[in-house]
Amino acid sequence: MPRRPLVPSRPDGAGALRSSRAAPPAPRRAPAPQAPDTVALQIGAGAPPLMAPVLWRRSARARRVTLRIDPAKGGLVVTLPARTPVETGLNLLRTHHDWIVARITTLPAAPTFQDGETIPLDGTPMLIRHCPQARRGVWIDGPEIRVSGDADFMARRLREFLMREARTRLGRHVAALAATAGLKPAGLVLRDTRSRWGSCSDSGQIMLCWRLVMAPAWVQHYVAAHEIAHLRHFDHSPAFWRLVGTLCTTRHEAEAWLRTNGPLLMRIG
Ligand SMILES: [Zn+2]
Repeated sequence: MPRRPLVPSRPDGAGALRSSRAAPPAPRRAPAPQAPDTVALQIGAGAPPLMAPVLWRRSARARRVTLRIDPAKGGLVVTLPARTPVETGLNLLRTHHDWIVARITTLPAAPTFQDGETIPLDGTPMLIRHCPQARRGVWIDGPEIRVSGDADFMARRLREFLMREARTRLGRHVAALAATAGLKPAGLVLRDTRSRWGSCSDSGQIMLCWRLVMAPAWVQHYVAAHEIAHLRHFDHSPAFWRLVGTLCTTRHEAEAWLRTNGPLLMRIG
C-alpha cells in the first residue's frame, strides 16, 4: 500500500501561479518550440542573466498550465496538461519573469561541503575546516567538522561522514521509540529523498532521509516517531495520530520546522 509522504515537500509554498490563457496559434511550418532546460532571468541592468533550471512536467490531471518555484533546487517547475503546447508554458515564463526573479533571488543560499562553509548537525551550526595534512578522515572538533585529505574529495568524504552520523543518530531515535511503543521495525534504510522525510513499507522497513541528521534532534525524533507509529497504523487515521502523540509531543512544531527549513536542508551539499 503506498504511503502518503510524511511531510510532502511544498515547493509551491510561495503560491503557485496558474494561467488559463491559451497560447497564440503557432505560425504554420514553424518548428514547435522545445522545452528549454534553463531560462535566462534578467536580474539587473548590466548584470549577466541568471540561468534558472526548468523542470517540465506533463500531467493528465492538470487543467491549466502552472508554474511554481522549487526551493529545494532553486529552479522552476512548469506543469502542462496533456495536450497543451510547450509554447503556453514559455508564455507563462515570459509574462511572469519579474515574479520568478523576485522569488528565485530571495531563496536562501545553501551551503556547500567546502572549507569555510557552515552546515548544521543536529541543528547546531558546524564550521567545515579542511585539514589537508591530517590523516584522520573526518572528525568533529568542538564547533567544527574537520576533513583531512585532498580538497577534491572533501565533499564526498563529508557526505559519507554525515551518512554515518545519520545512521547513528537517527538509528538511536528509531530504536528508542520502537522500544517505547513495543514495536519492532524490520530495518532502517537511509536515502537521499527529496520529496519526503520518511516512509514505512508494508514489510515494516523504515526509510528516513539522511539529511534529517542536520535538523534539530527533536525534529529527527518526530519523524522517527511518525514512521514507528506506521508500524501499527498503516494510515493517517485518528488512532495513528494518537499514537504519534504518545511518542512525541512536538508534532506541530516539527512539521512547521520542516516546512520552513526543509527546502534548505534538501539543497545543502
Ligand atoms: Zn505518515
